[in-house]
Amino acid sequence: MTRWTLPPGDIPSAWFNVAPHLPSPLQPPLHPATRDPLGPDDLAPLFPAAVIEQEMTQAPWIDVPGEVLDVLRLWRPTPLVRATGLEQALGTRARIYFKDESGSPAGSHKPNTAVAQAFYNAREGIRRLTTETGAGQWGAALAFACAQFDLKCMVYMVRASFEQKPYRRILMETWGGSVVPSPVDQPDHPGSLGTAISDAVRDAAGRDDTHYALGSVLNHVLLHQTLIGLEARQQLSLAGETLPDVVIAPCGGGSNLGGLSLPFVPDAGVRLVAVEPLSCPTLTQGRFDYDFGDTAGYTPLLPMYTLGHDFVPPSIHAGGLRYHGDSPLISALVRDGRMEAVAYPQGKVFEAAVQFARIEGRVAAPEAAHAIRAVIDEALAAEETGDEKVILFNYCGHGLLDLSAYDAYLQGQLPDERG
Ligand SMILES: *Cc1c(COP(=O)(O)O)cnc(C)c1O
Repeated sequence: MTRWTLPPGDIPSAWFNVAPHLPSPLQPPLHPATRDPLGPDDLAPLFPAAVIEQEMTQAPWIDVPGEVLDVLRLWRPTPLVRATGLEQALGTRARIYFKDESGSPAGSHKPNTAVAQAFYNAREGIRRLTTETGAGQWGAALAFACAQFDLKCMVYMVRASFEQKPYRRILMETWGGSVVPSPVDQPDHPGSLGTAISDAVRDAAGRDDTHYALGSVLNHVLLHQTLIGLEARQQLSLAGETLPDVVIAPCGGGSNLGGLSLPFVPDAGVRLVAVEPLSCPTLTQGRFDYDFGDTAGYTPLLPMYTLGHDFVPPSIHAGGLRYHGDSPLISALVRDGRMEAVAYPQGKVFEAAVQFARIEGRVAAPEAAHAIRAVIDEALAAEETGDEKVILFNYCGHGLLDLSAYDAYLQGQLPDERG
């Protein structure tokens, strides 16, 4: 057996809330002008009540609404796969498993939260959602989810990606979304997730029929993603494993990493590892501080590792990992020593991605390839110490719409950034 699936009825019926399990309580987000702790009323212009509640709750489990499960069942539960070919090629005794989130309609983990957010907004009578997107994965996920609940979707897309990566724009438009390049008022600026968040928040704050949806970073987003880790737990036991020794995932804003790893936080012996690009080394080289989520300073101040809200990362191929900040939950776990972080230059990442494609067949999203790099290094290190490790990683998306990145690597034209 190298692949474990669960029946459609076995999607977990509740999300796992890590808040009560943190080594120290989360610091609250602060109002951008007054610097007072935010209350639910401050968030009401942007988010539905259920989501605001989830952002702040200490309840250990939160029920997944039936309407959300009905949509998730289009592709969930997702398979757990053992990468036996990779194990053999590396000559390792480590057992390497990955959770395959690439089979969702949008090709990544992002629809797990997009569907929940679209549902709660539609239930509150909201007609239109705005958001930002980098390479387009989140915008595509939200456009898909909005189509399921009959909402309009307005996506502000980082200009560099808008110009260089038309396919996800076409995907968003196919699902009925509208897409514009950001920053809207500076046509020569390449844009960043920070500028696009500013555009999307400004739009939503100005209209009563419109809310804003964020694809990562916030507590409720990581909460919605925990189905990944909860399913993986069940599947690992079907595979005859008790617990993984190490859980590895790429980290941009922290949602796929949180989704896979947060359910393992209470298991003290399980190592948790975040992998980030050396060109945007938030967790490995940033500082822990309150900072804005966007460039313009409209969003609340969040307690997180940050490179500074005016940091514009270079245009690397893993667009989803180009963010100056990080999830407060992930940041707190790293600060408190419960999670580790490593950073890799993109040349090493694509070397691993191509090796994985030739052995395992799957062409990974550049973001997922960061995890693959770290997994290979972890397996090789385990071999040196003679450990029989169980490694679990998140195959959080496929790379079939990122082939220009593979092309650049194969042509020897991928610049290696400096850290
Ligand atoms: C968006 C995205 C990421 C980065 O976002 P996180 O919130 O850190 O998960 C990583 N991988 C894929 C495939 C993505 O689409």
